[in-house]
Amino acid sequence: MTDTLPRGFATIRKPDRLEPPPNLAAGPEARSRFSWASMEAALDGLPGGGLNLAHEAVDRHAAGPNADRIALRWLSAHGDDRDLTYADLAQASARFANVLEELDVGAGERVFVLLGRVPELYVAALGTLKRGAVFCPLFSAFGPDPVRQRLELGDGRVLVTSPRLYKRKVAQIRDDLSGLEHIVLVDDERDPFPSDAPRDVHDWFELMAGVDDAYTIAPTDPESMALLHFTSGTTGRPKGAIHVHGAAVHHYMTGLYALDFHPGDVFWCTADPGWVTGTSYGILAPLIHGITNVVDEAEFDAERWYAILQDEKVNVWYTAPTAVRMLMKAGGELARRYDLSRLRFIGSVGEPLNPEAVVWGNATFGMPIHDNWWQTETGGIMIANTRAEDVEPGSMGRPLPGVEAGIVDRSNGDVREILEPDTVGELALRPGWPSMFRGYLNQEERYRKAFAGGWYLTGDLATRDADGAFWFVGRADDLIKSAGHLIGPFEVESALIEHPAVAEAGVIGLPDPMAGEVVKAFVTLNPGYEDSDDLRLELLGHARKRLGPAVAPKSVDVRERLPLTRSGKIMRRLLKARELGLPEGDTSTLMNGTGGDAP
Ligand code: ATP
Ligand code: MG
Repeated sequence: MTDTLPRGFATIRKPDRLEPPPNLAAGPEARSRFSWASMEAALDGLPGGGLNLAHEAVDRHAAGPNADRIALRWLSAHGDDRDLTYADLAQASARFANVLEELDVGAGERVFVLLGRVPELYVAALGTLKRGAVFCPLFSAFGPDPVRQRLELGDGRVLVTSPRLYKRKVAQIRDDLSGLEHIVLVDDERDPFPSDAPRDVHDWFELMAGVDDAYTIAPTDPESMALLHFTSGTTGRPKGAIHVHGAAVHHYMTGLYALDFHPGDVFWCTADPGWVTGTSYGILAPLIHGITNVVDEAEFDAERWYAILQDEKVNVWYTAPTAVRMLMKAGGELARRYDLSRLRFIGSVGEPLNPEAVVWGNATFGMPIHDNWWQTETGGIMIANTRAEDVEPGSMGRPLPGVEAGIVDRSNGDVREILEPDTVGELALRPGWPSMFRGYLNQEERYRKAFAGGWYLTGDLATRDADGAFWFVGRADDLIKSAGHLIGPFEVESALIEHPAVAEAGVIGLPDPMAGEVVKAFVTLNPGYEDSDDLRLELLGHARKRLGPAVAPKSVDVRERLPLTRSGKIMRRLLKARELGLPEGDTSTLMNGTGGDAP
């Protein structure tokens, strides 16, 4: 049991009437009526048999009343925005499937995409799925080494990228990649096709123009591999998680119940497809629901983001704690200058969402930010605060219908479920949900070890309260043991960011001969505050008052930035390695400019 829990915040009550009514009513009865069969029944299935993600996401809509609805509303970083209807997307992805056929790329073979958030990324993803090949997205900001590692591990046959990214990241590793047969470059006038390109480097537009815009998807076994997603590398070297076409059922369920999609909605997921949220929710779930999916090519900018929410009339917005904290830093007054009246639901994933942020969201947008939990391995949302239910700031919510989650203890060799409420243990899930990963690529043993005693073990620590809601404590690796106390960094970080000076906080344990470990905090400051001895003392005092002396940090450093992964997670292992002068391990996912040291 950790010694304090982030529960000092009042419950945010939902109004009795919500319009349109939430897809999932509050309370356990609605969940008990659930069946996966009813979710499957809402999908189409392939005419020739089986289930294919791209058919569910695109072709079935293109063949029906949604054909002319905007599927992708693409906001360019350069002002040349583009819309693709479901019919457009069906044709373009059919072309790419035909391109793959021409290149002799078959079912199960890997197609990697290293692109910014441009429409061609989405077309390539869906075309790859139509072909029965495997889509593997890479962050466009990865350096040559992470690109090479992943292409090697994933045995990439095709790489779709841009001339600029090819020159900067691929040309120098090309000779190491013997399995990579084709490189396809998406060029434009700002980034023209290189005149000296080798023979295996093709022009996207030439290939696409040379093929037909219709493609019949072959019967697809729902168990066949569709996606390869690398984890964020927060705790170590990224793992390649294998996902299958049958995941469509889970994407449909979570779009319906966790994000509460309604027909005609405009949805914006701010995540990059380089990590799983940007694919499961940045591509698949909204398209499977036949709604409009906003894609913004540009990087974070508070004013741009509010303008998008306003101008695109976004109804459902899915973002991440780091982004929320950056918006908080920009101030709630900024948000109030925009008309955000179309916004109906805000969700967040990827890191613990500090209770402070939930409350700030409620004050700023008139609705709480709904934290939900999942990971690359689960393929989709598992535990969520839903639209109909009251929100306890700091809680991740409850398991979605069809999902069974538990808290378990595996310290004594076997796996025992902990039923006493408010007791810390490992968050575990009953295997069998449709989007569950089917393996870690080339790491059979690791995959096998993730399952024991009838559970999938997530590696995260959490508690379950008497009402069945789950509370995040920390990653098993991040837990701090200090003088007999178990301390989750999240609760300490959350207490620190309640102080007006603190924008972000990262907390680690440092070895100590007396206490075992002592808690150390790293913070960044909000505008208007400067580092000083007085401020640091004040922060330590604030934490002590809030958490008690056993849990509060013993020291605090002020930093210009904290090291973040590209998916926006604080890399505590890096804070620790640097503090202790230890090897940094895999830093392939470290975001540029967040090295953690003062600039
Ligand atoms: P790696 O496995 O390579 O170390 P990672 O675990 O960060 O990286 P992801 O699969 O992208 O890679 O992230 C999933 C993890 O993010 C979860 O296991 C959990 O630790 C954290 N996480 C996600 N959502 C939440 C949330 N709502 N609250 C707390 N933590 C969350
Ligand atoms: Mg992980």
